[in-house]
Amino acid sequence: MARPIVAIVGRPNVGKSTIFNRIIGERLAIVEDRPGVTRDRIYGTAEWNGKPFSIIDTGGIEIFDEDELLKQVRMQAELAVEEADVILFIADAKAGLTPADETIAQLLFRSNKPIVLGVNKMDNPASTDEIYEFYSLGLGDPVALSGTHGIGVGDLLDELVKRLPEKPEELYGEEVIKIALIGRPNVGKSSLVNALLGEERVIVSDIAGTTRDAIDTPFEKDGQQYVLIDTAGIRKRGKVYEATEKFSVMRSMQAIERADVALIVINGEEGIIEQDKHIAGYAHEAGRAAIFVVNKWDAVEKDDKTMQRFTESIRDHFLFMPYAPIVYVSATTKQRLHKLLPVVQNVAEQHSMRVPTNVLNDIVADAVAVNPPPTDKGRRLRINYITQVAVKPPTFILFVNDPELMHFSYERYLENRIRTAFPFEGTPVRFATKRK
Ligand code: GDP
Ligand code: GDP
Repeated sequence: MARPIVAIVGRPNVGKSTIFNRIIGERLAIVEDRPGVTRDRIYGTAEWNGKPFSIIDTGGIEIFDEDELLKQVRMQAELAVEEADVILFIADAKAGLTPADETIAQLLFRSNKPIVLGVNKMDNPASTDEIYEFYSLGLGDPVALSGTHGIGVGDLLDELVKRLPEKPEELYGEEVIKIALIGRPNVGKSSLVNALLGEERVIVSDIAGTTRDAIDTPFEKDGQQYVLIDTAGIRKRGKVYEATEKFSVMRSMQAIERADVALIVINGEEGIIEQDKHIAGYAHEAGRAAIFVVNKWDAVEKDDKTMQRFTESIRDHFLFMPYAPIVYVSATTKQRLHKLLPVVQNVAEQHSMRVPTNVLNDIVADAVAVNPPPTDKGRRLRINYITQVAVKPPTFILFVNDPELMHFSYERYLENRIRTAFPFEGTPVRFATKRK
């Protein structure tokens, strides 16, 4: 299910990332934080009052020159307005109201997007006078915050979730596979879209009839219906979006949230860079099915080991996604492109697969017999029961004597045992433990 997107905007140094970390820290975690997904987080998921959302910190740009600052905050705010469902605008009580704050406020005000204004660095709850001048921004009642002391964050979240849109109406039927092409600029996303749609027996169809069909492209092949999510965004050649990683990430996030299957496009000619990992990490965290699509394979000088070496390199770089299949293609020559949609179809199926409870419990009982759970200070984890509670991605709940005794490595072991029986190819799986 697509989560609404919240974007944090504001001048550098007002405390955006501090607040971001507070919000992420307060999430109800069912999602794992696995080794390998380490990075400076700018994107995360959270839940407040039972409402899930994803959140991006658009800030973090170091700028000292005032002209450059205004340009950057303007760009950031414009992007947030375009891509986010709710905007969290942070200002700084210690610095007071600045021209850059006013620039941002004007842009936000015109957008008609829901906005929550937080005034940070109000460290002393007894003195609240600094907040009054921020009323002049015309964005309603500011929420007093202290990111470092954790003051006001709950109030801020209350205001924020009030403004989240209702669950978006599902635009496409269950049988339609929604595909997002993601990847850094110039890997060949838009060429791949064209090549896919130009493939033999692909019929571009008109199944939606809503506002979204202006940006999505539905099509059909071999009796299966697909939708390419945000085709317009992929084709848009906006300098703004490509200027920095954060901006292109935000665009990808929207698409990922709405998709079933993420095609993580990699430039075979250039190899893998850090940014590819970040983008793949979003698909993983969002729980989408994923496929690595190595494009421009025509331009790679090859011998009989090249593909094997590239595959190893992908596995090394993306340790957190061993489940994702890899397809080598060329948008230019259409080489192997016909292999892509069958893989998409397969991972989509695996992504929504349910394993019967009795079968799961047999697998876990066998796994425990072969390799008993570790003990901690003389106490041993006991698993009473396992059941699958969700699909897309497959999510399992383990009922145990004490969730504290469950270790990541044992969970990984159980995952591997389940995957031996049911590969769940292309899909992350999730575990939660509950005390029985
Ligand atoms: P960003 O550039 O907007 O993401 O800001 P950061 O979160 O990196 O914070 C900038 C600086 O302000 C850091 O030195 C923080 O420790 C500090 N800071 C953040 N929140 C508060 C706060 O509530 N009170 C005070 N006094 N300092 C804060
Ligand atoms: P995007 O920014 O990810 O949408 O990338 P584009 O589709 O605009 O492609 C960027 C550049 O890579 C263009 O010059 C394309 O012609 C080129 N390109 C795309 N796919 C291929 C491919 O399969 N092989 C080769 N050799 N070049 C490609």
